[in-house]
Amino acid sequence: MPVYLDNASTTKPCAEAVEAVKHALTENYGNPSSLHRVGLYAQLAVDRARKITARSIGAGADSIIFTSGATESNNLAVRGACRAYGRKKKRIVCSSVEHPSVKKTVLDMEKEGFEVIFIKPSHGGRFEPKDFVQACNSETVLITMMYVNNETGYILPVEEVFGEVKKKFPEIITHSDCVQAYMKLPFTARKLNADLISLSGHKIEAVKGCGVLFVRDGVRLIPQMTGGNQERGLRSGTESVPLISAFGASVKKMSDDIDERLEKVNNLKSYLLEKISDIEGVQINSPDDGLPYIISISQPKRSEIMLHYLESKDIYVSSGSACSRGKQSGVAEQFGITGRRADGILRVSITADTKESEIDLFAEVLREGIENIRG
Ligand code: PMP
Repeated sequence: MPVYLDNASTTKPCAEAVEAVKHALTENYGNPSSLHRVGLYAQLAVDRARKITARSIGAGADSIIFTSGATESNNLAVRGACRAYGRKKKRIVCSSVEHPSVKKTVLDMEKEGFEVIFIKPSHGGRFEPKDFVQACNSETVLITMMYVNNETGYILPVEEVFGEVKKKFPEIITHSDCVQAYMKLPFTARKLNADLISLSGHKIEAVKGCGVLFVRDGVRLIPQMTGGNQERGLRSGTESVPLISAFGASVKKMSDDIDERLEKVNNLKSYLLEKISDIEGVQINSPDDGLPYIISISQPKRSEIMLHYLESKDIYVSSGSACSRGKQSGVAEQFGITGRRADGILRVSITADTKESEIDLFAEVLREGIENIRG
């Protein structure tokens, strides 16, 4: 049996999501925009998923826009807000550890004349809320800050920063990429003080190619795609009923036991850290108070070589993040992980279903790899 410890890259769809896809493909195949009954049933399935998703973040159903994934959600949030509100206000404040779908988008906006202020962690590798707040001024159009970093599990102080920013400058649009936090940490849009929130299906045991952008009531965005005006005109294109139904099915399954799973995963993280604590040359990169689902470590061999050694024993982890395809993304460096330590990063990402026996095997093969791999 494969030992899959790469759940921050993607998760295996749950049975409920697979069933929802199957039902939509075989029984409920209509176009939600069609005026007849077949279309209506498809529309009802999308509405159901929308309600479930909205409830999971304490929002109204109208605030949920289905997209093709969090990459699109992040693009729509950043570009859409800058284009809607950025005629006069030109500053964007952004954390320095964002996913490329945010980082590259704000850099594109820079080319269009916006000023981007990247906020870095301090020397201890921790973000100071005041650094974000002080960077915001009356010229600021948008602040964007992920909730959980996908490479280290670091939890950014979104609630505090957005709260302070909204107190001082209520008109600044607040956006958070919550992809790695969703269904893992309990939160609501209101608690985060977020105007815009990005979510992804395939990180929550639903399906790749489906995401969500929460858009707070009253926030305007310029759509990136024009067409049939689906999704309140913010995302034209026929809704993918199978993928959206799967999203709703996963959320329905996962939203009831977030706290229980968090406790389980916390114990599994402690178990893993204990198991690898005496392996020569292993260092822990994730903070103690990070999201326990993501554990970044460094070990003395090059990441890719160790990744393939583990793969040869049917154990699957990632080097840094899957999005950077083996290239260093620069995020580790932001957290103060550099040089040989950065060359040997492995990201182990677990779930509440990860077994202690799988962690035992990982630790054993890692130890063996460090001893056996030459160079
Ligand atoms: N943001 C974060 C933090 C992510 O981890 C990912 C997925 N790697 C994305 C955005 C992009 O999500 P998607 O694959 O749904 O486009």
